[in-house]
Amino acid sequence: MAGSEPSPQPPETSGLERQRAWVEVDAAAIEANARSLRRHLATSELMAVVKADGYGHGALTVARAALAGGASSLGVATLAEGIELRRSGIEAPVLVLGGLCHEQELRSCLHWRLMPTISGRREALLCHNLASGQGRRMALQLKLDTGMARLGVDWEQGPQLVAAIAELEAVQLAGVYTHLASADLPPGEDDGLTRQQQQRFETVLTSLQQQGLDPVCRHLANSAGALSNPGLHYDLARVGLALYGHPPATHLSGVVALQPAMRLRARVSLIRELAAGVGVSYGHRFRTQRPSRLAVLAIGYADGVPRALSNQLEVLFRGQRLPQVGAITMDQLIVDATDCPALEVGAVVTLLGGDGDQEITPSEWSARCDTIPWEILCGFKHRLPRLACGGGSTAR
Ligand SMILES: *Cc1c(COP(=O)(O)O)cnc(C)c1O
Repeated sequence: MAGSEPSPQPPETSGLERQRAWVEVDAAAIEANARSLRRHLATSELMAVVKADGYGHGALTVARAALAGGASSLGVATLAEGIELRRSGIEAPVLVLGGLCHEQELRSCLHWRLMPTISGRREALLCHNLASGQGRRMALQLKLDTGMARLGVDWEQGPQLVAAIAELEAVQLAGVYTHLASADLPPGEDDGLTRQQQQRFETVLTSLQQQGLDPVCRHLANSAGALSNPGLHYDLARVGLALYGHPPATHLSGVVALQPAMRLRARVSLIRELAAGVGVSYGHRFRTQRPSRLAVLAIGYADGVPRALSNQLEVLFRGQRLPQVGAITMDQLIVDATDCPALEVGAVVTLLGGDGDQEITPSEWSARCDTIPWEILCGFKHRLPRLACGGGSTAR
């Protein structure tokens, strides 16, 4: 404990053998998905939506792979997400999809060449003032609300606002877009909402054309819009979920060949042999029905495995499905390996993704805990290192 002694070298912690749980990200799968989506979009461009740290895959990894696969621009939700891309040397156009209201935020957009999304005259004027003060022009995009009731100017006021923006010489209106509220519902189940949103969008575009204010880039499709109807492609589609290899709805699976880019894996930290009738984990929500061999996995809800999946999860080991038992705890969960004698301490199991000829998808999880695959993917915490892997869906 003597203070004068040199401290020992800290142990190396980056090796896989020292990891308890991690997310494997297959950049080649993202690049291939981008390529397939790009082909499906034909003459329309692909904007890769990399918000929320690339839906949990790592924004930079995803951005680079998507651009390599033919995406021509990137979408982020926040200013900080956009700055991260620029600081890492990414030069592609970046649209901030979230709302920015503060002058400082817009000033940063100008500095980092990020396009803000504008929903009103106030922000457009702020941009004009900032840019003209520096003798520059600032690109921005206008969002129309056609039926989502979230960001955007009411579509009926769209043409008027575009005309006002056209008067601001330091502002370049680089795009006009809207967002679909129900594109992931099967045809006939959305009460005609997608069609109504498209008609409203068309009404605005027609009015702009009549005023000689044709926007440079018109877009409304997310993954579901891009996959469901080529009539929704316009100049560009903003694709998130499908880029990561997951269809946005069951009826849209197979429209474009997609490869899941993420595998969630964890290590067995202990094997327990228990008698029949033993209560397991908090609240004893599971009780062994037979003499059992249980494996403790070093991953829990603090890593992003929803606790609501307790007793409903399965994991894969060499293509075999093993049931998870008892309450999922903050840092650990337990699986029943009674029928899998090969599972040993230190072995790696797959919670999401492919293993052998089996695969567990985020939709399988989300269907069991009343959420959507988007929330599953972006729920993985930074405690889980993201590791590059090129293995596709084959297990190591
Ligand atoms: C997140 C987002 C998208 C991407 O949606 P996916 O369903 O993941 O394809 C597209 N547009 C906007 C405005 C978004 O916020």
